[in-house]
Amino acid sequence: MGKIKVLDNMTIQKIAAGEVIENPASIVKELVENSLDANAENIVIEINNGGKSYIRITDDGDGIPKDDVSIAFKRHSTSKLNNINDIYSIMSLGFRGEALASISTVSKMEILTKTSGSEAGVHSHIEEGEVISSDIVGCPKGTTMIVKDLFYNLPVRKKFLKSDISEGNQINDIITKLVLGNYEKSIKFIRDGKTILHTSKNKDLLDTIYTVLGKDFANNLIQIDYKDSYIRINGFISNNNLYRGNRGHQYMYINGRSIVNSAISKSIENKYKSLIPINRFPIFVLNIDIAPGEIDVNIHPTKQEVKFINKDRVIGTITNCIERYLLSSCSIPQISMNK
Ligand code: ADP
Ligand code: MG
Repeated sequence: MGKIKVLDNMTIQKIAAGEVIENPASIVKELVENSLDANAENIVIEINNGGKSYIRITDDGDGIPKDDVSIAFKRHSTSKLNNINDIYSIMSLGFRGEALASISTVSKMEILTKTSGSEAGVHSHIEEGEVISSDIVGCPKGTTMIVKDLFYNLPVRKKFLKSDISEGNQINDIITKLVLGNYEKSIKFIRDGKTILHTSKNKDLLDTIYTVLGKDFANNLIQIDYKDSYIRINGFISNNNLYRGNRGHQYMYINGRSIVNSAISKSIENKYKSLIPINRFPIFVLNIDIAPGEIDVNIHPTKQEVKFINKDRVIGTITNCIERYLLSSCSIPQISMNK
């Protein structure tokens, strides 16, 4: 008999889940992105023990039709994509249809969901990717996802989880990114029973920066607003009085998706070279809007990186824009918030 065999289905699923779900923070990211894709206006995130034992995300979005619930937890099941070409016109945060399948493979999940068209909602328990019970219940429109006992069936993976504080702080960082990228939504974060953050709807970005990052940040920012027929860049960049020892406060969004792009970050940092001390990094919250056909979002399972078709043009426009605003900020009064 040969040595090569096809792995059993559960093993395949657990391996695949590992790609998307690294820690509790990746679960929070995926579930909040689903809420945003479902047009939620209010999202509540609750965690206990750094999210290791309990995560609950409640939204007032579109909900999932009763008959779709079990399909939603299958691998490669999505309502956001029909064929591969859609990826290049897509504006939703998700499209790979992997998150719910992956999370439900490595934890015990519950879902409570109702659409506006249905009279009642459905409450289901999911284990190892399968719906194991379902009841019809009364509930408001929207979706609640509960994730318990992360990695209960992957003991080695569980051992790699960090302390409750450390995992909770990573969730905090993810939520900060989500909040700054979605300042028009109300997002509430409750950690071990305590409300850590609560943003309200319809505020402007600077208000949200003030709430999330604090006064020191908000008082030392330069507003950016640039638009041409190819790209729109808006947000805030730090002046020469505000910098940090790492890149932890560089927030960049492409079409609403939080991304990391070291080429853009480095070229922005270059413009600060003579303005801030060496080995210090500027701070920014930048929203970049571009036609979806100009980027490829499908290069990484967690979608934290994107590829630009015309990278030089994007970087060139961003850095010219930053340079212009930085230079002119020397002669205009700084934005000041007297709160
Ligand atoms: P993807 O987001 O890539 O489509 P997911 O596994 O994250 O894949 O979700 C599968 C499907 O379940 C989504 O396409 C969506 O139709 C539905 N869904 C998940 N979360 C929610 C939610 N909070 N509200 C409404 N629908 C949801
Ligand atoms: Mg998703």
